[in-house]
Amino acid sequence: MSKPNIIILATGGTVAAKASDESTSTDYKAGVLSISSLLKAVPGLDGIAKLSTEQIANIDSSNMSDELWLKLAKRVNSLAKSPKVDGIVITHGTDTMEETAYFLNLVSHTNKAIVLTGAMRPASAISADGAKNLYNAVYLAADEQARNKGVMIAINDKIYAARDVSKTHTLNIDAFKAQNSGEIGYIIDGKVFFSHDPVKLHTVNSVFCVRGLKKLPKVDIVYSYANDGSKVAIDAFLKAGAKGIVVATSGAGSIHENSKNHLIKLLKAKKLVVVKSSRVGAGLVPLGKEDEEQGFISANDLNPQKARVLLMLALTKTQEGKEISKYFELY
Ligand code: ASP
Repeated sequence: MSKPNIIILATGGTVAAKASDESTSTDYKAGVLSISSLLKAVPGLDGIAKLSTEQIANIDSSNMSDELWLKLAKRVNSLAKSPKVDGIVITHGTDTMEETAYFLNLVSHTNKAIVLTGAMRPASAISADGAKNLYNAVYLAADEQARNKGVMIAINDKIYAARDVSKTHTLNIDAFKAQNSGEIGYIIDGKVFFSHDPVKLHTVNSVFCVRGLKKLPKVDIVYSYANDGSKVAIDAFLKAGAKGIVVATSGAGSIHENSKNHLIKLLKAKKLVVVKSSRVGAGLVPLGKEDEEQGFISANDLNPQKARVLLMLALTKTQEGKEISKYFELY
Protein backbone atom coordinates (compact mmCIF):
# COMPACT_ATOMS: atom_id res chain seq x y z
CA MET A 1 0.00 0.00 0.00
CA SER A 2 1.28 3.46 -0.82
CA LYS A 3 2.04 5.78 2.05
CA PRO A 4 -0.44 8.61 2.77
CA ASN A 5 0.54 12.15 1.83
CA ILE A 6 0.63 14.32 4.91
CA ILE A 7 1.33 18.03 4.80
CA ILE A 8 2.58 19.84 7.89
CA LEU A 9 1.63 23.52 8.15
CA ALA A 10 3.83 25.26 10.67
CA THR A 11 2.71 28.36 12.56
CA GLY A 12 5.23 28.62 15.41
CA GLY A 13 4.72 28.24 19.17
CA THR A 14 6.85 26.69 21.89
CA VAL A 15 7.24 23.58 19.76
CA ALA A 16 9.41 25.83 17.58
CA ALA A 17 11.08 27.63 20.49
CA LYS A 18 14.65 27.78 21.65
CA ALA A 19 15.93 28.70 25.12
CA SER A 20 19.44 29.73 26.18
CA ASP A 21 20.27 26.24 27.53
CA GLU A 22 18.77 22.76 28.05
CA SER A 23 17.66 23.36 31.63
CA THR A 24 15.55 26.40 30.74
CA SER A 25 11.96 25.53 29.93
CA THR A 26 10.05 28.75 30.56
CA ASP A 27 12.23 31.68 29.47
CA TYR A 28 12.44 31.29 25.71
CA LYS A 29 11.44 32.81 22.41
CA ALA A 30 8.56 30.96 20.72
CA GLY A 31 8.30 30.57 16.95
CA VAL A 32 11.98 30.74 15.96
CA LEU A 33 12.79 27.26 14.60
CA SER A 34 11.64 26.21 11.14
CA ILE A 35 9.49 23.13 10.57
CA SER A 36 12.33 21.43 8.67
CA SER A 37 14.63 21.76 11.67
CA LEU A 38 11.90 20.41 14.01
CA LEU A 39 11.45 17.35 11.83
CA LYS A 40 15.11 16.43 12.26
CA ALA A 41 14.29 15.57 15.89
CA VAL A 42 11.52 13.14 14.85
CA PRO A 43 12.94 9.92 13.48
CA GLY A 44 10.89 7.37 11.53
CA LEU A 45 8.19 9.60 10.04
CA ASP A 46 9.29 8.83 6.48
CA GLY A 47 8.26 5.24 7.11
CA ILE A 48 4.60 6.09 7.64
CA ALA A 49 3.87 9.04 5.38
CA LYS A 50 5.10 11.06 2.44
CA LEU A 51 5.68 14.35 4.20
CA SER A 52 5.71 17.86 2.86
CA THR A 53 5.89 21.08 4.86
CA GLU A 54 4.84 24.70 4.60
CA GLN A 55 5.79 27.49 6.98
CA ILE A 56 2.58 29.55 7.20
CA ALA A 57 3.83 31.77 10.05
CA ASN A 58 6.28 31.59 12.94
CA ILE A 59 4.64 33.32 15.87
CA ASP A 60 3.94 32.92 19.54
CA SER A 61 0.30 31.87 19.38
CA SER A 62 -0.67 34.45 21.99
CA ASN A 63 -0.36 36.81 19.02
CA MET A 64 -2.83 34.87 16.83
CA SER A 65 -5.07 37.10 14.72
CA ASP A 66 -8.30 36.81 12.76
CA GLU A 67 -6.27 37.58 9.60
CA LEU A 68 -3.95 34.63 10.18
CA TRP A 69 -6.94 32.38 10.90
CA LEU A 70 -8.47 33.34 7.57
CA LYS A 71 -5.18 32.72 5.75
CA LEU A 72 -4.71 29.35 7.46
CA ALA A 73 -8.30 28.24 6.89
CA LYS A 74 -8.18 29.14 3.20
CA ARG A 75 -4.92 27.21 2.81
CA VAL A 76 -6.33 24.19 4.67
CA ASN A 77 -9.42 24.16 2.44
CA SER A 78 -7.42 24.39 -0.75
CA LEU A 79 -4.97 21.65 0.35
CA ALA A 80 -7.78 19.37 1.55
CA LYS A 81 -9.33 19.51 -1.92
CA SER A 82 -6.20 18.10 -3.50
CA PRO A 83 -6.10 14.34 -4.16
CA LYS A 84 -2.39 14.61 -3.34
CA VAL A 85 -3.17 15.42 0.31
CA ASP A 86 -4.51 12.74 2.66
CA GLY A 87 -4.18 14.56 5.96
CA ILE A 88 -3.01 17.86 7.45
CA VAL A 89 -0.95 18.47 10.58
CA ILE A 90 -0.65 21.99 11.96
CA THR A 91 2.05 22.90 14.46
CA HIS A 92 0.86 25.69 16.75
CA GLY A 93 1.54 27.36 20.08
CA THR A 94 -0.54 25.91 22.88
CA ASP A 95 -1.93 29.22 24.20
CA THR A 96 -4.55 29.71 21.49
CA MET A 97 -4.41 26.26 19.92
CA GLU A 98 -7.95 25.46 21.08
CA GLU A 99 -9.30 28.60 19.38
CA THR A 100 -7.57 27.92 16.06
CA ALA A 101 -8.66 24.28 16.20
CA TYR A 102 -12.29 25.24 16.82
CA PHE A 103 -12.20 27.92 14.10
CA LEU A 104 -10.89 25.37 11.58
CA ASN A 105 -13.42 22.81 12.84
CA LEU A 106 -16.17 25.21 11.74
CA VAL A 107 -14.78 26.36 8.39
CA SER A 108 -12.78 23.44 6.92
CA HIS A 109 -14.99 21.58 4.49
CA THR A 110 -13.30 18.20 4.39
CA ASN A 111 -13.52 14.82 6.06
CA LYS A 112 -9.74 14.39 5.83
CA ALA A 113 -7.88 14.46 9.14
CA ILE A 114 -6.76 17.87 10.40
CA VAL A 115 -4.60 17.57 13.50
CA LEU A 116 -3.07 20.38 15.55
CA THR A 117 -0.13 19.79 17.82
CA GLY A 118 2.47 21.75 19.75
CA ALA A 119 4.58 21.54 22.87
CA MET A 120 4.77 22.85 26.39
CA ARG A 121 8.57 22.81 26.49
CA PRO A 122 10.88 24.49 23.99
CA ALA A 123 12.64 22.23 21.49
CA SER A 124 15.96 22.92 23.23
CA ALA A 125 14.82 21.75 26.70
CA ILE A 126 15.61 18.48 28.49
CA SER A 127 12.64 16.16 27.86
CA ALA A 128 11.14 18.46 25.23
CA ASP A 129 7.68 17.13 24.35
CA GLY A 130 7.41 18.52 20.82
CA ALA A 131 9.06 15.67 18.93
CA LYS A 132 6.75 13.01 20.37
CA ASN A 133 3.70 15.20 19.86
CA LEU A 134 4.64 15.79 16.24
CA TYR A 135 5.28 12.09 15.75
CA ASN A 136 1.84 11.24 17.17
CA ALA A 137 0.12 13.96 15.14
CA VAL A 138 1.54 12.59 11.88
CA TYR A 139 0.51 9.06 12.83
CA LEU A 140 -2.98 10.28 13.62
CA ALA A 141 -3.33 12.30 10.40
CA ALA A 142 -2.14 9.27 8.41
CA ASP A 143 -4.67 6.92 10.01
CA GLU A 144 -7.92 6.15 8.13
CA GLN A 145 -9.84 6.15 11.42
CA ALA A 146 -9.09 9.86 11.85
CA ARG A 147 -11.38 10.84 8.97
CA ASN A 148 -14.78 12.38 9.75
CA LYS A 149 -13.76 13.30 13.30
CA GLY A 150 -13.53 17.06 12.75
CA VAL A 151 -10.41 18.96 13.68
CA MET A 152 -8.42 17.34 16.49
CA ILE A 153 -5.60 18.21 18.85
CA ALA A 154 -3.01 15.49 19.47
CA ILE A 155 -0.96 16.26 22.55
CA ASN A 156 0.62 14.26 25.38
CA ASP A 157 -0.47 10.97 23.73
CA LYS A 158 -4.15 12.00 23.81
CA ILE A 159 -6.57 12.98 21.07
CA TYR A 160 -9.08 15.76 21.69
CA ALA A 161 -11.99 17.06 19.60
CA ALA A 162 -11.44 20.72 18.73
CA ARG A 163 -14.77 21.86 20.17
CA ASP A 164 -14.31 20.35 23.58
CA VAL A 165 -10.65 20.83 24.44
CA SER A 166 -9.02 23.65 26.36
CA LYS A 167 -5.64 24.45 27.83
CA THR A 168 -5.93 23.96 31.58
CA HIS A 169 -2.37 24.23 32.86
CA THR A 170 0.20 26.98 32.30
CA LEU A 171 3.29 24.73 32.19
CA ASN A 172 2.66 21.04 32.72
CA ILE A 173 3.03 18.81 29.67
CA ASP A 174 -0.41 17.38 30.47
CA ALA A 175 -1.85 20.81 29.81
CA PHE A 176 -4.97 20.00 27.82
CA LYS A 177 -8.32 18.64 28.97
CA ALA A 178 -11.82 18.31 27.61
CA GLN A 179 -13.53 19.11 30.91
CA ASN A 180 -17.06 18.20 29.85
CA SER A 181 -16.46 15.15 27.70
CA GLY A 182 -12.91 13.79 27.99
CA GLU A 183 -10.48 12.95 25.22
CA ILE A 184 -11.81 11.07 22.19
CA GLY A 185 -8.84 8.74 21.92
CA TYR A 186 -5.16 8.19 22.43
CA ILE A 187 -2.02 7.19 20.54
CA ILE A 188 0.47 4.62 21.75
CA ASP A 189 3.60 3.67 19.83
CA GLY A 190 2.07 4.65 16.52
CA LYS A 191 -1.30 2.98 17.16
CA VAL A 192 -4.41 5.12 17.26
CA PHE A 193 -7.33 4.25 19.53
CA PHE A 194 -10.62 6.14 19.46
CA SER A 195 -13.20 5.86 22.22
CA HIS A 196 -15.99 8.11 20.91
CA ASP A 197 -16.97 10.60 18.21
CA PRO A 198 -17.61 14.31 18.70
CA VAL A 199 -21.37 14.91 18.58
CA LYS A 200 -21.66 18.56 17.49
CA LEU A 201 -21.65 19.62 13.83
CA HIS A 202 -18.27 20.24 12.22
CA THR A 203 -16.31 20.45 8.94
CA VAL A 204 -18.38 18.97 6.08
CA ASN A 205 -21.61 19.58 8.01
CA SER A 206 -20.82 23.16 8.97
CA VAL A 207 -22.60 26.06 7.26
CA PHE A 208 -19.75 28.47 7.97
CA CYS A 209 -17.38 29.37 5.20
CA VAL A 210 -14.35 31.63 4.80
CA ARG A 211 -14.41 31.77 1.00
CA GLY A 212 -14.28 35.42 -0.04
CA LEU A 213 -14.19 36.56 3.58
CA LYS A 214 -11.63 39.35 4.12
CA LYS A 215 -12.29 39.97 7.80
CA LEU A 216 -14.36 38.63 10.65
CA PRO A 217 -17.00 40.60 12.55
CA LYS A 218 -15.47 42.12 15.68
CA VAL A 219 -16.37 40.23 18.84
CA ASP A 220 -14.75 40.86 22.22
CA ILE A 221 -14.79 39.24 25.63
CA VAL A 222 -15.49 40.81 29.01
CA TYR A 223 -15.04 39.15 32.38
CA SER A 224 -17.43 39.35 35.34
CA TYR A 225 -15.82 39.72 38.76
CA ALA A 226 -16.38 41.33 42.18
CA ASN A 227 -16.81 45.09 41.79
CA ASP A 228 -16.94 44.51 38.00
CA GLY A 229 -15.80 47.51 35.99
CA SER A 230 -16.34 46.07 32.52
CA LYS A 231 -19.00 48.65 31.60
CA VAL A 232 -16.06 50.84 30.52
CA ALA A 233 -14.61 48.04 28.41
CA ILE A 234 -18.01 47.24 26.84
CA ASP A 235 -18.44 50.87 25.72
CA ALA A 236 -14.89 50.98 24.38
CA PHE A 237 -15.39 47.73 22.43
CA LEU A 238 -18.66 49.05 21.03
CA LYS A 239 -16.99 52.29 19.99
CA ALA A 240 -14.22 50.30 18.30
CA GLY A 241 -16.82 48.47 16.20
CA ALA A 242 -17.74 45.36 18.21
CA LYS A 243 -20.84 43.62 16.93
CA GLY A 244 -20.87 41.07 19.71
CA ILE A 245 -19.69 40.60 23.28
CA VAL A 246 -19.05 37.33 25.06
CA VAL A 247 -19.30 37.57 28.83
CA ALA A 248 -17.20 35.24 30.96
CA THR A 249 -19.88 35.13 33.64
CA SER A 250 -18.93 34.35 37.22
CA GLY A 251 -20.84 31.07 37.44
CA ALA A 252 -23.75 29.53 35.54
CA GLY A 253 -24.52 32.80 33.76
CA SER A 254 -24.38 35.41 36.53
CA ILE A 255 -23.14 38.87 35.57
CA HIS A 256 -22.39 41.61 38.11
CA GLU A 257 -25.23 44.15 38.08
CA ASN A 258 -22.70 46.93 37.26
CA SER A 259 -22.35 45.60 33.73
CA LYS A 260 -25.50 43.47 33.45
CA ASN A 261 -27.85 46.47 33.54
CA HIS A 262 -25.72 48.19 30.92
CA LEU A 263 -25.76 45.11 28.67
CA ILE A 264 -29.56 44.88 28.99
CA LYS A 265 -29.83 48.49 27.79
CA LEU A 266 -27.56 47.77 24.82
CA LEU A 267 -29.51 44.62 23.96
CA LYS A 268 -32.76 46.56 24.05
CA ALA A 269 -31.29 49.16 21.70
CA LYS A 270 -30.04 46.33 19.44
CA LYS A 271 -26.50 47.67 19.60
CA LEU A 272 -24.87 44.32 20.36
CA VAL A 273 -25.34 40.58 20.46
CA VAL A 274 -24.43 39.27 23.92
CA VAL A 275 -23.44 35.68 24.62
CA LYS A 276 -23.14 34.35 28.17
CA SER A 277 -20.31 31.90 28.71
CA SER A 278 -18.63 31.15 32.02
CA ARG A 279 -15.24 31.74 33.58
CA VAL A 280 -15.60 28.47 35.57
CA GLY A 281 -14.11 26.12 32.98
CA ALA A 282 -16.63 23.28 33.03
CA GLY A 283 -20.39 22.92 32.75
CA LEU A 284 -22.93 24.82 30.71
CA VAL A 285 -24.74 28.12 31.08
CA PRO A 286 -28.54 27.74 31.28
CA LEU A 287 -30.76 30.69 30.36
CA GLY A 288 -33.65 31.78 32.55
CA LYS A 289 -36.93 33.11 31.13
CA GLU A 290 -35.86 36.66 31.94
CA ASP A 291 -32.48 36.19 30.20
CA GLU A 292 -34.27 35.06 27.08
CA GLU A 293 -36.67 37.99 27.17
CA GLN A 294 -33.75 40.37 27.60
CA GLY A 295 -32.07 38.81 24.55
CA PHE A 296 -29.07 37.05 26.08
CA ILE A 297 -27.74 34.00 24.25
CA SER A 298 -26.16 31.00 25.98
CA ALA A 299 -22.77 29.69 24.89
CA ASN A 300 -23.89 26.33 26.30
CA ASP A 301 -20.63 24.69 27.38
CA LEU A 302 -18.27 26.64 25.11
CA ASN A 303 -15.65 28.60 27.03
CA PRO A 304 -15.47 32.37 26.38
CA GLN A 305 -12.64 32.22 23.82
CA LYS A 306 -14.45 29.53 21.82
CA ALA A 307 -17.81 31.27 22.15
CA ARG A 308 -16.09 34.28 20.57
CA VAL A 309 -15.06 32.14 17.57
CA LEU A 310 -18.57 30.82 17.02
CA LEU A 311 -20.19 34.23 17.53
CA MET A 312 -17.89 35.81 14.92
CA LEU A 313 -18.84 33.14 12.40
CA ALA A 314 -22.52 33.29 13.35
CA LEU A 315 -22.43 37.05 12.72
CA THR A 316 -21.21 36.40 9.17
CA LYS A 317 -24.64 34.79 8.64
CA THR A 318 -27.16 36.70 10.74
CA GLN A 319 -27.76 39.31 13.47
CA GLU A 320 -30.89 37.49 14.66
CA GLY A 321 -30.63 36.34 18.28
CA LYS A 322 -32.81 33.25 17.79
CA GLU A 323 -30.74 32.01 14.82
CA ILE A 324 -27.48 32.69 16.65
CA SER A 325 -28.82 30.75 19.65
CA LYS A 326 -29.51 27.81 17.37
CA TYR A 327 -25.91 27.86 16.15
CA PHE A 328 -24.77 27.66 19.78
CA GLU A 329 -26.93 24.55 20.23
CA LEU A 330 -25.69 22.84 17.07
CA TYR A 331 -21.98 23.66 16.97
N1 ASP B 1 3.51 30.93 24.24
C1 ASP B 1 3.44 29.72 23.54
C2 ASP B 1 2.50 29.84 22.36
O1 ASP B 1 1.29 29.71 22.51
C3 ASP B 1 3.04 28.61 24.44
C4 ASP B 1 3.18 27.27 23.82
O2 ASP B 1 3.28 27.12 22.63
O3 ASP B 1 3.19 26.30 24.60
O4 ASP B 1 2.94 30.09 21.27
